[in-house]
Amino acid sequence: MKRYDYVIVGSGLFAATFAYEAKKVGKKCLVLEKRPHIGGNVYCEEIEGIHVHKYGAHIFHTSNKKVWNFVNSIVEFNRYTNSPIANYKGEIYNLPFNMNTFSKMWGIRTPEEAKAIIEKQRMSIQGEPRNLEEQAIRLIGKDIYEKLVKGYTEKQWGRDCKDLPSFIIRRLPVRYTYDNNYFNDCYQGIPIGGYNVLIDRLFEGIEIKTNIDFLENKEYYMSLADKVIFTGPIDAFFHYQLGKLEYRTVRFETEVLDTDNYQGVAVVNYTDRETPYTRIIEHKHFEFGTQPKSVISKEYSTDWVEGMEPYYPVNDEKNQGLYQKYVELAQKEQNVIFGGRLGEYKYYDMDKVIESAFQLVESELK
Ligand SMILES: Cc1cc2nc3c(=O)[nH]c(=O)nc-3n(C[C@H](O)[C@H](O)[C@H](O)COP(=O)(O)OP(=O)(O)OC[C@H]3O[C@@H](n4cnc5c(N)ncnc54)[C@H](O)[C@@H]3O)c2cc1C
Repeated sequence: MKRYDYVIVGSGLFAATFAYEAKKVGKKCLVLEKRPHIGGNVYCEEIEGIHVHKYGAHIFHTSNKKVWNFVNSIVEFNRYTNSPIANYKGEIYNLPFNMNTFSKMWGIRTPEEAKAIIEKQRMSIQGEPRNLEEQAIRLIGKDIYEKLVKGYTEKQWGRDCKDLPSFIIRRLPVRYTYDNNYFNDCYQGIPIGGYNVLIDRLFEGIEIKTNIDFLENKEYYMSLADKVIFTGPIDAFFHYQLGKLEYRTVRFETEVLDTDNYQGVAVVNYTDRETPYTRIIEHKHFEFGTQPKSVISKEYSTDWVEGMEPYYPVNDEKNQGLYQKYVELAQKEQNVIFGGRLGEYKYYDMDKVIESAFQLVESELK
């Protein structure tokens, strides 16, 4: 007789959603988390009374009503709407590209005027775009490309746009309305009280051990339950026996400032190449904070090396091929289910990771 129905490795949103539903149907779970806290990448650290998104800014957005109702049944969400701005050498533009952006860029007023300018500039690229620069100009025209796309993209990839393949940018969303809402989804917001409230409530009444690396005592932990749900990196589970999957990552420099309002908005993209960081996040604005101080994080895009947080899977042929080989190994593990962004080597937004946990709930618990 095993002590638990499930040992769940990791305590991010995938694990939390599954554990919550498993508890509801009377299953006994043990959650193991190697970090000193639960919540995975949505965890917030409180500094000066402000919830600081320690692993990168997280804005919840979805068009899936089931997911929205689920998270709202756990915690109420505020009305935060993501409306980032771009700073190009001191000039401020609204994002995503919309009539506010075009009006500022060209002093025009109507969608017709904006369309005419963009159309004319796009035509400067004839034939099949040979690189990302030509692709972006073909999509959005020269002015927007040069001020708002070029430097930012070069910092993200650490390379010149002329040396990047065109397929990286398939489309650049353009809106011919005065609408600064970054997302097209029906629902968005931040949990009132921060993401830790959501996570704590999902795990309420479930046994959790932090500072435990499952892989250091794999056989023992596997012997405790009928099944293991593994949300850590799939290649790590197999001791990297086929090689290492690659990631891109972000380094954060976080500072406390002696001002109550540094930039007037949560997200500012620095779109010139010379400023070394890509964005500055001012965390208090996610929750309309009125604290006397402010906390900002500068984001630097970098290649991932061991010891850094693995953030974005590199979806090229080499890595996808390697991942498929790990999937073949995973299929032989009868009692282990791999899930979440690291277990499936896939970039998932939060709503999508909850959807994916719901699918597991359907197949496992119903
Ligand atoms: C920089 C950044 C910004 C993002 N912004 C947004 C956003 O604005 N909106 C949005 O919807 N989504 C956003 N996301 C995506 C979001 O973070 C993910 O959808 C979500 O966190 C995935 O949850 P998860 O449970 O799969 O993984 P994670 O949250 O990564 O949880 C996995 C957990 O497993 C633990 N673990 C790993 N190995 C072991 C082991 N051997 N033993 C024990 N524990 C282990 C890890 O420590 C971690 O806590 C962003 C992601 C990043 C990287």
